[in-house]
Amino acid sequence: MADFCIFCEIVAGRQPARLVHQDESVTVFWDIHPQARIHLLVVPNQHIRSLAEAEESDPLLLGRCLQVAAKVAREHGLDRSGYRVVTNVGPDAGQSVFHLHFHVLGGNRLRLPLG
Ligand code: 5GP
Ligand code: ZN
Repeated sequence: MADFCIFCEIVAGRQPARLVHQDESVTVFWDIHPQARIHLLVVPNQHIRSLAEAEESDPLLLGRCLQVAAKVAREHGLDRSGYRVVTNVGPDAGQSVFHLHFHVLGGNRLRLPLG
C-alpha cells in the first residue's frame, strides 16, 4: 500500500476540509492552522512530493495551480490588497506535508521571512 498522504485523502474526499475549489486537476482548501487572515492551500490532485519532484510532471498542471491560486485569491477579496503565494521545499523551508501545495496568504500585512 502506498504511504498515507493527508492531502491525497482530502482531494479524494476521505478526510474533511473546508474546500473552496475543486476541478479535475486542482483542489483548494483552507489551511487548518492559518498563518494569515486568509490562508488557503492549492494542491494538484495528483500526488507530487514537492516542487523539486515536479520537473517530470505536466507543466500545464503547475501553471493551472498558479492560475487557480490567483482565482481563489480574487474570490477572497485579495486582488486589491495583495497576497503571497508560497511553496516550501524540503527541511530548511519547513515542508511538513509531502504533497506539493501552494500557500495563498493574505488579508493582513505580511512580513518576510515567513518562518
Ligand atoms: P508546509 O509546512 O508543508 O509548507 O505546509 C503544510 C500546511 O498544511 C501547514 O500550513 C498545515 O497547517 C497544513 N495542514 C497540515 N495538515 C492539514 C490538514 O489535515 N488539513 C488542512 N486543511 N491543513 C493541513
Ligand atoms: Zn498526496
